[in-house]
Amino acid sequence: MSTTERLYYHDSRLLEFDARVISLSELDDGQIAVTLDQTAFYPTGGGQPTDTGTLGDARVVDCIDVEDDGVLHVIQGPTPEVGDTVHGKIDWLRRLDHLQQHTGQHILSAAFVKLFDAPTHSFRVLEHECEIDIALDEPSDERIEEAVDLANQIIWESRPITIRQVTSEQAATLPLRKEPAREGELRLIEIGDFDLTPCGGTHAKSTGEVGVIVVRSWERAKGLTRVHFRAGVRALADYRKTNQTARDVAALFSAGREDSPTLVSKIIEDNKRLTRRVSELEEVASRVEAEELLQEAVSYRTGSGSDRVPVGMSVIDGERGSSRTVREGSDNNQGPFVIAKVFDDRSADSLKHLALALTAHPNTVALLGSRDGATARLVFARSSDAAGDMNMLMRGACSILGGRGGGRPDMAQGGGKDVAALDKAIQAAAQGLIES
Ligand SMILES: [Zn+2]
Repeated sequence: MSTTERLYYHDSRLLEFDARVISLSELDDGQIAVTLDQTAFYPTGGGQPTDTGTLGDARVVDCIDVEDDGVLHVIQGPTPEVGDTVHGKIDWLRRLDHLQQHTGQHILSAAFVKLFDAPTHSFRVLEHECEIDIALDEPSDERIEEAVDLANQIIWESRPITIRQVTSEQAATLPLRKEPAREGELRLIEIGDFDLTPCGGTHAKSTGEVGVIVVRSWERAKGLTRVHFRAGVRALADYRKTNQTARDVAALFSAGREDSPTLVSKIIEDNKRLTRRVSELEEVASRVEAEELLQEAVSYRTGSGSDRVPVGMSVIDGERGSSRTVREGSDNNQGPFVIAKVFDDRSADSLKHLALALTAHPNTVALLGSRDGATARLVFARSSDAAGDMNMLMRGACSILGGRGGGRPDMAQGGGKDVAALDKAIQAAAQGLIES
């Protein structure tokens, strides 16, 4: 059995060290792992991600904690021999980041306990996210910001952070923020007159190194409150990103950053009003459009329509603005007018307006379609005195479009993704109507 002395336990600022290779192993995925007699590399664990860096000329891409068997340094590059002395070097910016998030978590968790007696149940420092799950009664922005204020006050007082080694008996007499997860000798992290908690991670030497703590958002999660926070370098990166977003939005209005929310709500309000107005106007326009379509129908009936449009068949021209209207049996006046037409970029609402305007006229059936982006839309309607089951025709048409739809015998809606089959679907409906 090999073991590794953990240099990071005593000094989180130790970034370079020499060590002897005591064993090599191959992981399941074929990568080589090196065990050293001592290391300053912090392995993944305790809610903190692994350090990276170099070992000789090789990259250390991951470190795995195997407890009493030491730390496995997963390397990419030249593999040293057992017995070699190698030089290790930690990636400082990554270590600093982890150390700030992790120490920040201690401080923030302690602040929630001090103010609201709200203990932390779990925490995670991930590659980009930091979160704690706390048992906070009645969570609110105000309460959470109060804890953030206290945490930052402790940071800006640059209180010392020290490590104490104690036995479990000694620990039992101390006011620890959380119960130790292990037996035997314990490593306690003490933040001057503020927090005392067992932990094996890497910490700042004083609270000031954490820089600042900010909370991005929070939500309820499994009976607890999950708080998403950022400390130090991550808080700065997050500020830059957020500020850029706010400035980009403000630039759209040629306004200041602080004015954006008011201007955005105004646009949303204007948009709602305009949408209502467009809907009203569309209704009026639909009536005019319906008149024109019906005029066309009448001219087919009274003119040479029977020559141009075969009896009992609906012809649909796919071009925008063109349509054919047929009535069943052009020799007599018994069948309904069938207005069949496909539009481009027309919403379901707009089709419905037109269908209602058409079927306000007697003995009329409207079979309308629209190519609305990648969606094929259909609205079928008939006047109360016309024959035909729109619900049934719609179901048949939608199966051609690979979609779904339905409704009442006098009005049905539907659609599908097969936009190219729209003409075919409407023709099938017209045919179905004639045959019924
Ligand atoms: Zn810790």
